[in-house]
Order: sequence, then C-alpha cells, then structure tokens
Amino acid sequence: MALRFYNTLSRRKERFQPLEPGTVKLYTCGPTVYDQAHIGNFRTFLFEDVLKRHLLLRGFNVIHVMNITDVDDKTIRRSIEQNVSLKALTDIHTKRFFADLENLRILPADYYPRATDYIEDMQATIQQLIRNGVAYETEDGSVYFSIAAYPDYGKLAHLKPNEMQSGERVQSDDYTKDNPMDFVLWKSWKPEDGPVKWESPWGPGRPGWHIECSVMSTKILGDEFDIHCGGVDNIFPHHENEIAQAVCATGSTFARYWIHAEHLMVDGGKMSKSLGNFYRLSDLTDKGYHPAVIRYMLLNSHYRSKLNFSLSKYEESRSALERITALRDRLMDRQPDFAKPENVVITDTGESILTAMDDDLDVPGALAVIFDWVRAINGRLDERKMAKDDILNGLFTLDLIDRLFGWLPETGADRVPADILDLVARRQAAREAKNWSLADELRAEIRERGWSVKDTPQGPKCSKEI
Ligand code: AMP
Ligand code: ZN
Repeated sequence: MALRFYNTLSRRKERFQPLEPGTVKLYTCGPTVYDQAHIGNFRTFLFEDVLKRHLLLRGFNVIHVMNITDVDDKTIRRSIEQNVSLKALTDIHTKRFFADLENLRILPADYYPRATDYIEDMQATIQQLIRNGVAYETEDGSVYFSIAAYPDYGKLAHLKPNEMQSGERVQSDDYTKDNPMDFVLWKSWKPEDGPVKWESPWGPGRPGWHIECSVMSTKILGDEFDIHCGGVDNIFPHHENEIAQAVCATGSTFARYWIHAEHLMVDGGKMSKSLGNFYRLSDLTDKGYHPAVIRYMLLNSHYRSKLNFSLSKYEESRSALERITALRDRLMDRQPDFAKPENVVITDTGESILTAMDDDLDVPGALAVIFDWVRAINGRLDERKMAKDDILNGLFTLDLIDRLFGWLPETGADRVPADILDLVARRQAAREAKNWSLADELRAEIRERGWSVKDTPQGPKCSKEI
C-alpha cells in the first residue's frame, strides 16, 4: 500500500511523495524553553519521532529540523519574573529538554536552530513582506502582517472570510480562532521586556513568535519542503501565520504536508503548563516510572485521537512491553550471538507492521500485528517448533519493532555501563567461590540500579529492567 498521511490542509489522507525522490525534509515545531517540557509536549514529539522512524524504515533519507523557541512572550515574562537573563533561563530548559529527549529515546534532529541566532534573517524577511505590500509599520515601531492582503489566509485552519477582522491588530504571540486579526511580525520594545531587544530598521524590538518558524524552516530546508508538524493547538494561529508569512515572502508553496498530533489529556482537559495539570518526565522517572513504559503509554493510540494519560494504566503498559522483551530474551537464549544487523531486515511480519503504519501511522493496527505475532511465536517456542532460521527471523522482527518504536531496553555488553559490568563480574566471582549470600547481595544492588542479570549457559547476561 502506498504511504499516506492525513494532511490538515486538505482534511484528507493523501498519498505521500516527497519533492525530491528518496529524501524527506521535515520541520517540527520545538519547545518554548521557558520551563521544562511536560509529557503532553512529548506526546507530540514522540509522534514526530515515530513518523521519522517510519520514513527511515521505508528507506527515505530524512532531514529533520526542530527549532528551539528561546524568545517570545512567555520566555521574556518568565526571565523577568525570575530575575535571570533570557539566555540563562532558556539555556537551562534547553539542556533539560535534550536530556528528556535522550531518556525517551527520541532520535536527534539534524538541526536545532535557536530563534535568537536568526534575528537578522527574520528582519530581512519582514522587510521583504513590507516591500511585497503585505506588512505595515505602526507608529510605535512595530510591524504587522495584513491578513486582508493575503486572500488564502485561513486556508489551514479553515476560517470563514467573514470571520476575519482585517485592520484590527493582535500583539500577543498566542490568541484564539474567534477573531483572526493582523498579527505582529516585529514588536517594538516595551519597558516590560527588560533588557531583551535587538536593533532593527523600525527601532529596538524583537520578532513575533510566528515569523521565527517561517524563517528558520525556510533558511535550513529551502522555500518549499515536505512535512511540517506540531500539536493541533499549533494549527491556529501559529501555523496559519507561518504559511502567510512564508508564502508571501518567498512566493513558494512552503510546507506541502501539515501533520498534527491530538492532545494528551488529563481528566478530560488538555495537559498544559498554564493549567498546572501536567507531569514532567522527571516527575515520573524520579518516582521510579520507567521512561520506556512512558514512551509506550504516550504512543499507544492513533496520533489523531485524544489520549488520556493515567498512571492507573502504567502496570498494564509495563506488562505489555514486558511481553515483547520476554520474547526477545527467549529468542536470544536460542541465538546468543545474535547481533543487530547494520541495515534493517524486513521479515513478513515486519512488512505487515510497516504496512499498517503506511496508512497514516496506524499504531493501533501495528500493535495488533505485533501482539498477535508475539503470542504465536511464544506458542511455537513452547511446542519447540522454532528452527534456527525461525529464531533468526524472530530476532529480525524484534529489531524492526525496536527501530520503529524504540521500546526495547538495550542488551549486549557494549550498552551496559562499566559500574554494572563490574558488579556482574564480582557477582560471578562470588558464585564461582560459592559465596551465595554475597552473590545475592550483588544481584540486589544490580537490580537497585535498574538492571537485571540472568545466568545463561554462555555466562551472565545483563539487561535494563522495565
Ligand atoms: P510549546 O513548548 O508550548 O511551544 O509546545 C511544544 C509542542 O507541544 C507543540 O507542538 C504543541 O502543539 C505541543 N503540545 C502542547 N500541549 C500539548 C498536549 N497537551 N498534548 C500534545 N501536544 C501538546
Ligand atoms: Zn513553530
């Protein structure tokens, strides 16, 4: 089946074909680094991660840009409240964000542009918009985009022309769909901005949030590129405004496929920092919840459905994941020298999983294939019906599942930290000396550090506990 994605522009599933055969240029709106990201944000970032992993498995080269919003209304307000420089505030949260990405096994992007590194490019684009007659300066030294000058305004969010309030202006970075207005491109400096300002042809000030993404995406990926993603709350005004700015500045199409993830909810409401009903990843991992299980929970639905987060589902998710890892252990026992192939091997089951994903990333469909297969293989192992080739195929399928979803804890000595290997070696020595109580103590310590050790005919084997 051909690869298809639901495009918010057309509100239909469309066959996906990149501009340049074999290469996908992908832009995903990154975090606003005024605080630590919450797991709602990570639902969107994880959906984007699986989208990218699927494209890679289907043989595309993916060029991925994720921006870091390090200047906007929220970052400035927070830096003033906390009496720290904008840079100090945003550096801390950017660093935490990267740590969370790693813990959640999100593949790194190729570029992480920071808005403050692109101010000159943003000013050049704003000048171009003024020259093109779609932007105007106001008396206070701000610049606005005139929505009446762009007849396609509202195309992404499906706004009705009679709802537009052209000539009326909105200063704030975020606002609702109720009355779309001329939005700000350059905001003149105000005392409440403190020291945050840049010189510009219109006097001191700073860019609006929307121009940041239009400029960083086109500077790195070109005027036209393949996929632009974010959460559904980005559709309006952020992405609508990005399209208006980029199309009017470059005359090009800008992004061709717009793919948006639905929200992560808590008790029926959107998880958000402003509502205070959120978990950070570290809130959960500090309490002992495993990032692989959280990753599983945040991916365990279709990206276009709302997903309700509840820790009451943690055990169920953990045991689902464990069924997959336990099967890997069983297969590895039969083929202990199995090494991950450099390139993916697509087995028949692997192809069925990818075929489900080809249909607008149908994760529930892919999971159904995976768990049916796990059950069937366990049954065949119980009946001792698995030949060496079947074992190898099973391990290739598990490798594909891991490349697609990033769920399986690492195995193999190369991924086990040195201090754990040291404990394992000491435990082995204690066993050989028949000092069982010391061996048990060492096993307990290994477990406390989040690893488990299993004794096999080939010697002790270590894996990360989930
Ligand atoms: P922000 O840091 O607020 O700019 O958000 C970063 C990303 O997280 C954006 O793509 C948002 O659309 C997305 N996002 C924010 N809240 C949620 C939520 N509750 N569920 C899913 N995605 C969200
Ligand atoms: Zn953006």
